[in-house]
Amino acid sequence: MDLVAIQAAISSLKAAADISKSIMDMKSMSEVQGKVIELQSALLEAQNCALMATTSQFELQEKIRELEAKLNEKGNWVKEKARYQLVSPWRGPAQTYALKQSEANGEEPHLVCSSCFNKEAKEILNPLKNKDGWVQMVCPRCKSTMDTGYKGIGGPKYAEEYAKES
Ligand SMILES: [Zn+2]
Repeated sequence: MDLVAIQAAISSLKAAADISKSIMDMKSMSEVQGKVIELQSALLEAQNCALMATTSQFELQEKIRELEAKLNEKGNWVKEKARYQLVSPWRGPAQTYALKQSEANGEEPHLVCSSCFNKEAKEILNPLKNKDGWVQMVCPRCKSTMDTGYKGIGGPKYAEEYAKES
């Protein structure tokens, strides 16, 4: 909350209260009218300050909500990331992230794009044969292709199985 704005609102209200008291002692109508104008401007000032405090409180709440959402997202990604392991399943130098069997929770084995994974996005790689019959793995998101060095590869395996092979 904006404490400066709140303090300003309080002091404006105090000024307004003082003006109201002094109106009781006024003798002439013109004196009263002058004080009424002063009173109105003090109240307006208080209102403006209160509005500023409310606005900044609203902005803070909005920021907190945004940060909470980001934190949640980050937490979810950290959990998701832990389910995968970097493996080198092919003859080529290309690496990929494979789902761990211990973390599969009934999910089929699959391989995800390492460059997307490093940008906190999970994208399953698809095998594709090039014109010479070599199998390449293609990321549908970033379009990167990885040479496997094989003309035929079996289905994807869990990370533990690739770790045993290498
Ligand atoms: Zn990718």
